[in-house]
This record gives sequence, structure tokens and C-alpha cells, in this order.
Amino acid sequence: MDLIQVYTDQCSLCGLCIDVCPSYDTVDVIPSLCDYISEGGQTEEKKPLEYDIRLCYTCNVCTVACPEDLGIRKLIAASREKKTKIRGLSKEQMLVDPFSDNNIYKKVGEWESPVEFKNEGRKSKVVYFPGCAASCMNKVVGKSTVRALNAAGVDYSVMSGIEYCCGSVSAGAGNTAPLEKLGQRNIDEINSRGSEILITTCPGCYRAFKMLYPQKFENIQFEVLQTAEYFARLLDEGKLNFKREMSEYTKSNAKLRIYYQDPCHLTRALGVYEDPRKVLSAVPGVELVNPTPEGSICCGFGGGVRTSFPQKSIDQAGSVHEYAKSLGSDIIITNCGGCMKNIIEGGYMSGKENESNAGLPVYDLAEFISIACGSAPTERDDLKLIYLSNKSLCDCLAHYDFKPYEELAAEYDPDLK
Ligand code: SF4
Ligand code: SF4
Repeated sequence: MDLIQVYTDQCSLCGLCIDVCPSYDTVDVIPSLCDYISEGGQTEEKKPLEYDIRLCYTCNVCTVACPEDLGIRKLIAASREKKTKIRGLSKEQMLVDPFSDNNIYKKVGEWESPVEFKNEGRKSKVVYFPGCAASCMNKVVGKSTVRALNAAGVDYSVMSGIEYCCGSVSAGAGNTAPLEKLGQRNIDEINSRGSEILITTCPGCYRAFKMLYPQKFENIQFEVLQTAEYFARLLDEGKLNFKREMSEYTKSNAKLRIYYQDPCHLTRALGVYEDPRKVLSAVPGVELVNPTPEGSICCGFGGGVRTSFPQKSIDQAGSVHEYAKSLGSDIIITNCGGCMKNIIEGGYMSGKENESNAGLPVYDLAEFISIACGSAPTERDDLKLIYLSNKSLCDCLAHYDFKPYEELAAEYDPDLK
């Protein structure tokens, strides 16, 4: 059925979606977006948009809250698609296009080399696909995942870097060309390695291989698993051997209290929330403060909000720390390179404004698991991560004027060296 007809028939304008939405505060947004989408079809804007559709984090909180499984996001997606068709790609949309010179990952790669994985391009039972984010931007995720795989004795190879972009983030921003161009090539490469399992860390890559590729491409001869799902399988097979008692990371030697931050695109959109909790709960000396995703909040990174509204995005990330602290957590663990970066940034910013509000330590799931399995902690520099990611946005977008980290420039700015 036509999307607008579905809303006409099923949406009672009850406002439950608005009650939980971090971006919109009136149910009027629903009829307004319906009008925008329907009037003039896909080729003409008969009415200007009344609400700023760039404010949506694509977190899906509204869809989960809706008794009819509707929410606002579906209308936002259709509105963004229409706007892109009529007005063309914006500079922000080009930032994640792997064929654009203005790609933010390429920009960071000019200053600091992407991760050099050892097991590239060979036949293997398992293929790890770190994606652009874990290869070039938040490298802790890529490095930690292979450490965990090594600790479990897995036979794997890696497909890394921008040359193996999945195209999903670009498609989410309304630019489907990279996905169309790269999807079948990625599938063929994995098949040619004779691989049975593909593992992704990034929820965007996972969505591409799990949901989008099967709708568009053929001959997927392998199973697609997110890192947490694969770790859970390794645990069941007795291959994930924890060697560290993680309570040693607390001052009192009481159990380490973990807040697991559900990445919106993994939990609400793709239903992966039990396996990360199962794996974390098996680590000696820990206690999960949120055993279910109920009440989980968006980190503020998604939907392009981080680029268009940086302060709003960072404030939202700060609220993850507040929520985790209210549950008595010692640390936050997440399962997405983008969420991790934003939450680190939110904690840094809160502490800068008021020292007593400084954030909790933030870990990636694979990083934590690899440490628990006895690997040396992955080398990381959180301030460099947030500095370079902001600098890449400043360099790629002339109008990006969010420059709050001048205190870090002397140490990290590659242009000053
Ligand atoms: S989309 Fe769903 S939750 Fe929102 S107003 Fe309509 S029926 Fe209510
Ligand atoms: S996806 Fe999230 S930010 Fe977007 S409309 Fe729904 S609740 Fe609001």
C-alpha cells in the first residue's frame, strides 16, 4: 500500500512517537510531511518543507513506540529521498561517497595511515569487513576485532579500506550510486575467497550485506553476522576463552558495572541486542546494568545530525553518559565505531564545560572482549580521534564552523606540523 495511504488509514495522531523523539516536539510534523511527500509526487515540491528533516537521527525510537509500527522516521526517509531527487546531492551527502575526493575517511587517511591488516586478500573460512569507519576513522574497532579473532584462533581474512566501502551510509544519506556500484563486486570478492561467514562491525555494513544486498544482488554464498553475533557463536563453541577477571579494573575490586549502549541501527533496526549482552555477561567480574534495550537512547551520531547540527549531536551524546551514570555504571561499552566516537566526544565536552560532569570511559565491544581474552589493550588516543574527525569535517565542508577543540590543535593538527 502507498505510504501516505498507510498513515491516513492507521495513524491516529496519538503523539506517542513525539513523546520519545529527541528531535521533534509536535505531532503536526506527521501531516506536514505527508503533504510534502504526496503533493507533486517525486518530481515537484508543491509546498516547502515546514520542518527541518535534517534533524532526524534515524534512531527508530519513534517506530518502536508506535502501536502501528509507523512513527516519524518512515516519513523522514521518504521526504529526504524526494528532496534529493529534486535538488540533487548536498555537500554533506558527498562526505561519505567513496568516489568523492571530499570523502571524510580519505581526508583522515591523508593525515594518518589507515589500519594495515595482515590477512588481506587470501582464501579463508571467515572474512572480516571493517568498513571505512573502522579502517580509517575509529581504528580501535578494526584493530580490536582482529585481536579478538586472533585470540579465538579463527581462520580469517580482511577486506578493508575505502576500496571496499559497502555503500550503505551513502545510501542512507540519499545517494544510492556507491551501493549499486560496489555491492555485487563485494559479494563476488567474498565468494572468490571460498568464505562461509562474513563478519561486519559497523551496523551500516551489516545492514548492507544483511538487508540491502539480498534485495538487489545475486549469489550471496555466505552467512552475514555482526561481530557480536559471531562472538556469541564462538562462545557457544568454547572458543572464546576469557583469561582476565575484569573486576580488577575497578578500584574496589567489586564487579565492573557495564552500561551497554545499543547502537540504534543495530538494535532497533536489525534486532541485534541479545548477543552482545550474552557475550558481555559471560566475561568474569562484570555486571550489566541494562540487561535489556528498554529505555535505551540514541548517541546522537546518526542520520547526518552530527554533521549538520554538531552541538545538538554532542549534547545528545552527553545524555548517554548521564543515563549510564544514573544506573551506577563504571564504563560504557558500545558496538559501533560512530557511536563510540560520539559518546567519547560527548563525555569530553561535558567535562570541559564542568569537570564534575566528565564522561565515563567508553570501550568498543571487540576491544573489551579482546582484553578479557588476554590480549594487550588496543592502543588508542581518544583526543586525537575527536580532533581529526572534526578537522576532516572542517576541511571537507567550508560552512562547518564547529571548532571547539582548538586546545588540541597544537598536539594533533597535521597542518601545524
Ligand atoms: S505515527 Fe504512530 S505513534 Fe505517531 S502519532 Fe501516528 S499512530 Fe501515534
Ligand atoms: S527516528 Fe528518532 S529522531 Fe527521527 S523522528 Fe524518529 S525518534 Fe525522532
